[in-house]
Amino acid sequence: MDIDLNPLKNLPSVDALLNDPSLQGSLLKNERPYVVSLVREYLDFLRKRIKGGVTCPSLEEIVAGVTAHINASLQPSLFPVINGTGVIIHTNLGRALLSEESLAAMRRAGQTYNNLEYSLEKGQRGSRYDHATRLLRLLTGAEDALVVNNNAGALVLVLSAFAKGRETLISRAHLVEIGGGFRVPDIMAQSGSRLVEVGTTNRTYLRDYQQALREETALIFRVHASNFLITGFTTEPSLDELVRLGREQGLPVVYDLGSGALLDTTGYGLAREPLVQDSVAAGVDLTCFSGDKLLGGPQAGIIVGRQPLIAQLRRHPLTRALRVDKTTLAALQATLLHYVRGEAEQKIPVWQMIGMKVNEIEARATRIVEALKQQGIPSAVVEGFSAIGGGSLPGQSLPTRLISVAVPNPSASTRQLRSASPPVIARIEDDRLVLDLRTVLPQQDETLQVILNDELGESGVGSRK
Ligand SMILES: *Cc1c(COP(=O)(O)O)cnc(C)c1O
Repeated sequence: MDIDLNPLKNLPSVDALLNDPSLQGSLLKNERPYVVSLVREYLDFLRKRIKGGVTCPSLEEIVAGVTAHINASLQPSLFPVINGTGVIIHTNLGRALLSEESLAAMRRAGQTYNNLEYSLEKGQRGSRYDHATRLLRLLTGAEDALVVNNNAGALVLVLSAFAKGRETLISRAHLVEIGGGFRVPDIMAQSGSRLVEVGTTNRTYLRDYQQALREETALIFRVHASNFLITGFTTEPSLDELVRLGREQGLPVVYDLGSGALLDTTGYGLAREPLVQDSVAAGVDLTCFSGDKLLGGPQAGIIVGRQPLIAQLRRHPLTRALRVDKTTLAALQATLLHYVRGEAEQKIPVWQMIGMKVNEIEARATRIVEALKQQGIPSAVVEGFSAIGGGSLPGQSLPTRLISVAVPNPSASTRQLRSASPPVIARIEDDRLVLDLRTVLPQQDETLQVILNDELGESGVGSRK
């Protein structure tokens, strides 16, 4: 056998490919530098493969490959997936889904001019923040409210505004990492406040805070343990005690609730996630929470609390840098209106999913499993648990029914499902591939069933040994 001394010699040049009649057609209508860089990218990819021992494809194959590469890059890279994980607030899959009304509000806000920062009464400039303030005040009982881009931003803002160059007291139990690189000590450093750790990881007393008080103390900061549990030999001062200490010392008490539930989770057999209303009622000066966790709205950082403090935040230059978009405000307002109208559990997807009945999930799972069995795919409906996710209610789960499929190679099958259109994200449990319909929209059931048939059936990887 001849040894090919230059296996790359058959690789066409960029120009040769650009001059190929099939590329000369429709694809070159696109921005030329864009197409050129994609052709280069594809040739680099082939070069690497050929160097790695793969034989050089034919010109037709290369043209087909580069065409597919260009076509794929002309499509949005952000697209829908089917969430079969049963994790309701799944950060990697986009967190909270929005209600129909919120989506419509976002569309309206983007489609036409609006009164975002315009007072129709006075015929002059108004404030974008007014659109959410009134509802947030009514719902939480707070004197005032401010909405910024996300909760991490809200915390940087609050700490910068009230504790820059001074000290913030925080329990060692609250020096946490929330996920996605969000760490309380880093946020503190970023805002220019000095962190003063008090107490221990498992036990912090009021006297620990009292002993740490100094001239430089600016703030008492408390973080809700939103994604982990410290159990056993633990203690921490109550919110009331911290608030009393703050009042005595003239120091604002700030509570980062993380999820920020407005509805009681105990009605669903879950532990009690602290309510925003309770924090406000306890007298906490500023309470911060996300818009897209248990609230079930768009990504936002919501700060509610005492009027003079909120007014100070509103004037802070960082507020401009963390400004929320009109579509966010529109969706947030629509979401908050669901709570005001007492229809949150019916209209907000996060709460619909939390409240979904097991027998409803079971009936849907059974329909799909029956269809899979007819195709010879060994599957069953089994008991399991869904998670809230998104740093809410750690260790808490909701009973559910899972579609469980016995496949020879579960991890190969989950990969196969991820490559479907739309991609399906499944879980592996006890060496079986499982899907939880709690987080699959009912209107996706049919598509899901077709994908499972195609990918796990006769011709799919599921049947390969
Ligand atoms: C999620 C979370 C944050 C971060 O909120 P984002 O809206 O993601 O910026 C901060 N603190 C706590 C306790 C959280 O759970």
